[in-house]
Amino acid sequence: MAYKMITPPEGGEKITIVDGKLRFPDNPIIPVIEGDGIGRDIMKASRRVFDAAVEKAYSGKRKIVWFDVFAGEAANEKYGEWLPQDTIDAIRDHIVAIKGPLTTPVGGGFRSLNVTLRQVLDLYACVRPVKWYKGVPSPVKHPEKMNIIIYRENTEDVYAGIEYRSGTDEANKVRQFLVDTMGAKIRELSGIGIKPISAFGSKRLVAKGIQHAIDNNLKSVTLMHKGNIMKFTEGAFKDWGYEVAKEKFGDVTITEDELWDKYNGKLPDGKILIKDRIADSMFQQILTRTDEYEMVCTPNLNGDFISDAAAAQVGGLGMAAGANIGDFIALFEATHGTAPKYADKDVINPSSVILSGVMMLQYLKWNEAADIIENAVSTTIQKKTVTYDLERQMDGATKVGTSQYATNIINNMK
Ligand code: NAP
Repeated sequence: MAYKMITPPEGGEKITIVDGKLRFPDNPIIPVIEGDGIGRDIMKASRRVFDAAVEKAYSGKRKIVWFDVFAGEAANEKYGEWLPQDTIDAIRDHIVAIKGPLTTPVGGGFRSLNVTLRQVLDLYACVRPVKWYKGVPSPVKHPEKMNIIIYRENTEDVYAGIEYRSGTDEANKVRQFLVDTMGAKIRELSGIGIKPISAFGSKRLVAKGIQHAIDNNLKSVTLMHKGNIMKFTEGAFKDWGYEVAKEKFGDVTITEDELWDKYNGKLPDGKILIKDRIADSMFQQILTRTDEYEMVCTPNLNGDFISDAAAAQVGGLGMAAGANIGDFIALFEATHGTAPKYADKDVINPSSVILSGVMMLQYLKWNEAADIIENAVSTTIQKKTVTYDLERQMDGATKVGTSQYATNIINNMK
């Protein structure tokens, strides 16, 4: 692949796909987008943590070879555009990448760079594991009960960007069609948004979620939807979810009806329970029956909401890891924004990117390095040497900056 303004680093190899499976070399080249604002602080600190953990786990036998690629403000300076083709090509070509947060420039017609990356690379699953690390301050009594992974559909739903502004020709035409041809009742001067949810998009997302549940010995997968109201989009998502569970994973999945009819309510060993819950009740359930949920598969908008609500129970955005994953390509990312008021001040919590890096190492199957980081983050927080966001909620904690916090994590690696 010829790039215009970037050159892959020496000393690394590409991750490849062989016979439909990912093949990871010991020295993978991994593109990294530093990101805007606090991205500069957190990515620098996080890279030190990743390198130290890999060195500790494999004593030089394995090493990540970082490939700096550009998006956001840095890309605009270098290329005069916010998301250069070089960057998209580099991620596609190297399969696994990591990014900091990106500013969405304000101005007509500009789509979020994050949404664009997800769509052009067809990263259809937004994966957000949410769990509590001992010592992290929380607004709930039992944060330790939270340990779920959310698979949010990432390409459809009201996020597809099909919207017509009130009063425009387009909005009038769509309204006219719906009123005249379909008999719909829509007030004049309505803004109109379209919510496409397909069998293809729903089934591949739920299949990916169930596969994750199988690979990680989870006992249940919950389809979260608002199908009682939006029958042909959210309700269809639920139906397609059950369908794909039966079609592709019929030997390991059972429904709640089968659980009671055949097994008297006791889940047999080796089976995964597929259940569904209405979206609004799910917000109660994660508070009142937190440990009954392990994996949630859901359309785009529900997923956006439930991810942040769940993260709030275990320490908030500074601690929330995430990834956008397609059939093979995976882009790991901090889930928060660029928090410009803290940029370049070395104060912000880098844990979101660090824990996204843990997910990345797990994706590479470098679980030893991933475990080292998770344990070191947990130790550092229990020792109460933390960044301002955690310090202000903890008794007797010592406030440290971004780089010192990363150094403490490295010093706490075992
Ligand atoms: P934000 O950057 O997430 O910051 C909002 C607040 O969240 C911060 O002021 C801070 O709260 C807290 N916070 C965020 N990151 C934190 C961290 N690492 N550690 C501790 N606290 C953290 O949201 P925003 O101000 O609404 O958005 C700013 C820009 O980011 C916008 O241009 C937006 O488009 C962009 N954005 C990008 C992404 C992405 O790239 N994935 C996602 C969301 C937003 P306190 O001040 O209370 O401490």
